[in-house]
Amino acid sequence: MTDLDQPLACDVPAAPHSASGEQVATFDLSAVAPPARRARRWTPRRVVATPPAYDHPHGRRIMERLEAQGIEVERLRGPRLTGVRGESDRETYARAKNTMAIVVSPPSRRKLQPIAPSADWRFDLAEGCPAHCQYCYLAGSLSGPPVTRVYADLDDILDGLADYAGRGTITSPKPSRHHEGTTFEASCYTDPLAVEHLTGSWRRAVEHFGAWDAPVQLRWTTKFDDVDTFIGLAHHGRTRVRFSVNCLPVTTRFEGGTSRLGDRLAALRRLALDGYPVGLTIAPIMPIDDWRSMYGALIAGVAAAVDGVTGLDLTAELITHRFTPGSRDVLMGWYPRTRLEMNEETRTRKHGKFGAVKYVYPAPLMTEMRTWFEAEIARRLPGCRILYWT
Ligand code: SF4
Repeated sequence: MTDLDQPLACDVPAAPHSASGEQVATFDLSAVAPPARRARRWTPRRVVATPPAYDHPHGRRIMERLEAQGIEVERLRGPRLTGVRGESDRETYARAKNTMAIVVSPPSRRKLQPIAPSADWRFDLAEGCPAHCQYCYLAGSLSGPPVTRVYADLDDILDGLADYAGRGTITSPKPSRHHEGTTFEASCYTDPLAVEHLTGSWRRAVEHFGAWDAPVQLRWTTKFDDVDTFIGLAHHGRTRVRFSVNCLPVTTRFEGGTSRLGDRLAALRRLALDGYPVGLTIAPIMPIDDWRSMYGALIAGVAAAVDGVTGLDLTAELITHRFTPGSRDVLMGWYPRTRLEMNEETRTRKHGKFGAVKYVYPAPLMTEMRTWFEAEIARRLPGCRILYWT
């Protein structure tokens, strides 16, 4: 029995979805890993809706959208979902990853939290993701079968953001980012473009911010390329879409079920040509063999993708790989032959903001990589603003 009223990631500190497990409790998902594979548009095998969801206009919009795509929506009598648990963990995991639930957001998600260093505030339109990135903190931090929840109370969620405008604590006070206004991050517990074709939620969020004539900005990051429905929207420059990218060896080895790097960069170009502020989330950065030429090729690929875009507004967020003892155990059990390097001996042990132990690269290596990335981005992508390195 799965209670759809409960959030998937309980009491987990805010973190961007490309983070790698620091500060969160993890659960052993050994032996349930799917193989890395290319993304297709996700079609859940089962879609359910809880009763409060169909009281909300957006809940009904999602149901109509799904039914138009030939996807049947099962109407539940309450928040309890049965039939997800299988004979084995692998079966439960596979069933849950193929299930989408249309629900009303839990009250805890309606009180916004700051999310440093990315944005002033985070808010959620969904929770859960059909992709399978090996380093994703969601993989080990979910408290139950990872059924993707999408929120029916979108209109209330968007209306509630007005209370937070002008109250930023992260980006608004920073002189280098002051012009962005109050920033709202909308991709902490999901990948928006993995589910947008089923929900239409982020498109409506873009329109909401486009019509919100105030110093505010919507932000999200994605590893997908499905941007067709965003072209031509009245975004008024108040949405920055960042593409989560990495060098080819990392993206092909570790990011199962996501869009190919070249397709993400082509999508970035399309949005930039449509006047959107865009960005790169380069994460998690890893000093793999020959990392300078591998990441050099990535940055060259980005330079080619934005070549000739007039009025380009491009940012970069640079996040190095880190892990906790818990996330390491999960991933080693999950991918026993993984080539993801998680050797505590070669890392520096640090304490995160919430006291949890995390392992990061040693300071000299961090300095070397940071210096290289800053110089290379300045050389190949002049005009790209680096928002932070961590
Ligand atoms: S695309 Fe999905 S699985 Fe991959 S890092 Fe993002 S949330 Fe995690």
